[in-house]
Amino acid sequence: MTTYREIQAPLRTIMTPGPVEADPRVLRAMTTPILGQFDPAFTQMMNETMEMLRQTFQTKNQWAFPVDGTSRSGIEAVLCSLIEPGDKVLVPIFGRFGHLLTEIAERSGAEVHLMECAWGEVFDQQAIIDEVKRVQPKILAVVHGETSTGCMQPLDAIGPACRELGVLTVVDAVASIGGVAVKVDEWQLDAVIGGTQKCISVPSGMAPVTYNERVERILNSRKRVERGVAQAGDRREVAHPIRSNYFDLSQLQDYWGPRRLNHHTEATSMLYALREGLRLILEEGLEERFERHRLHEQALMAGLRGMGLTLFNDVAWKLPVVTCIRIPEGVDGESVRGMLLNQFGIEIASSFGPLHGQIWRIGTMGYSCRQENVLFVLAALEAVLIRHRAPITIGRGVQEALDVYEGVAASVVV
Ligand SMILES: *Cc1c(COP(=O)(O)O)cnc(C)c1O
Repeated sequence: MTTYREIQAPLRTIMTPGPVEADPRVLRAMTTPILGQFDPAFTQMMNETMEMLRQTFQTKNQWAFPVDGTSRSGIEAVLCSLIEPGDKVLVPIFGRFGHLLTEIAERSGAEVHLMECAWGEVFDQQAIIDEVKRVQPKILAVVHGETSTGCMQPLDAIGPACRELGVLTVVDAVASIGGVAVKVDEWQLDAVIGGTQKCISVPSGMAPVTYNERVERILNSRKRVERGVAQAGDRREVAHPIRSNYFDLSQLQDYWGPRRLNHHTEATSMLYALREGLRLILEEGLEERFERHRLHEQALMAGLRGMGLTLFNDVAWKLPVVTCIRIPEGVDGESVRGMLLNQFGIEIASSFGPLHGQIWRIGTMGYSCRQENVLFVLAALEAVLIRHRAPITIGRGVQEALDVYEGVAASVVV
């Protein structure tokens, strides 16, 4: 009979666009004893998590809670709760995750209209607004931080324009939340989905969402309460009920709201983790956290340039938490990644679709976004590239990054 050993996970330095290293305090919070889902000690933690999510999303929305499941579960919950058969949804695609929005909207029965640009570009906001006017969709679904290309779509003009046109905006902020400003109220976004395993630095398994009363009105018009928990006054027949039970936001909000109407069993240990992850974000301060992500991005970019490497997303619309490098000609990208992992315990990412085999992606997200990690990945990458006979400038990577760090330290002293 096989006997299985206790888990022995190697210690890694994770510099991908997710999942990233979890803060040790988050891992510790996950060992907190289990509580019943209606225990007041637990429902208080649920309420505190909602409060902290509102702050992280920079919103006054009543509804801000996690959907249990990975980030795409939040996307699916929002889209399938809003889309009725035949509804028009416009999706501007600038990387892999725009295709995911499309896929989920199609499966929810939408008539999907697409805009596409080359991977590595983003859209002029006015071009999206013009297309919204032309197509007149019910929903504009768009990615904020596109991890597959390291690009970030500006939304500050799109949100207000859609509001004026009566079009709902649904935004995938999975990769940006907690690392880059996501100003839900200021940008007038109607529903926004975040992720835990990226800049929030909590394990994968929850998808924080927030939405406003415009979205809630649609949810309420489609609301049908599960028969086994329904009470007098709960409607059970509607024209187009939300097709999913698990992702039905109208029932989820009754579970997270004062009514506490049972739906699923909340994922206790993940809730502890998210609560701790959000607490750490607010303890650090949102602006300070964004500034930290910018600093390490700058140091990493300086180091990579110092080595003579070419950045794929060296553009004004760069997503600060993902840096993409063109794989030098003649170098086997997967062999480099393999050596980084096997010799140094460092993980960096490749990419998808048209960028597969073309770029490496280095994430500087959440707890992984630290000076020692940035210096370590630069030193290791240099060593590995030397062994792959890549034409790089030797000795400059770590030095250029140190210049950035020491420059900041000097400016603090002065
Ligand atoms: C990672 C990611 C997702 C998918 O997240 P899962 O947790 O794997 O479901 C969706 N959108 C973006 C922009 C992402 O970076």
